Amino acid sequence: MNSTKTHNIQLKDDCWIWTAKINEKGYGLLDVRNETKTHSINKRAHRVSYEVFIEPIPDGHEIDHACCNRACINPAHLEAVTKKVNIKRRDVRRQKMKDGSELVTYAKQKKP
Ligand SMILES: [Zn+2]
Repeated sequence: MNSTKTHNIQLKDDCWIWTAKINEKGYGLLDVRNETKTHSINKRAHRVSYEVFIEPIPDGHEIDHACCNRACINPAHLEAVTKKVNIKRRDVRRQKMKDGSELVTYAKQKKP
């Protein structure tokens, strides 16, 4: 079991990889029925996981993957952050990737 400290999250467990529908950006998708069950909408699986296991996502926040794996829905790897913070972290990760860091980033992930 690897334990990697990134920002405010301790990664204690492995990623929970969403194996159903994945969108073009690598995020897991989940069909959710509306309240009247007249139709269903696609929701991002990691956002649903965050709301089920942690709390409703605060207004204006995005869910950052501490593990950098967009298909992951492990709530221990998810953190609600502002768009500004999310962009800043992404830039840091990209820079570390350029520097040859061990961090796996979005750019290295490809659809199977
Ligand atoms: Zn993960």
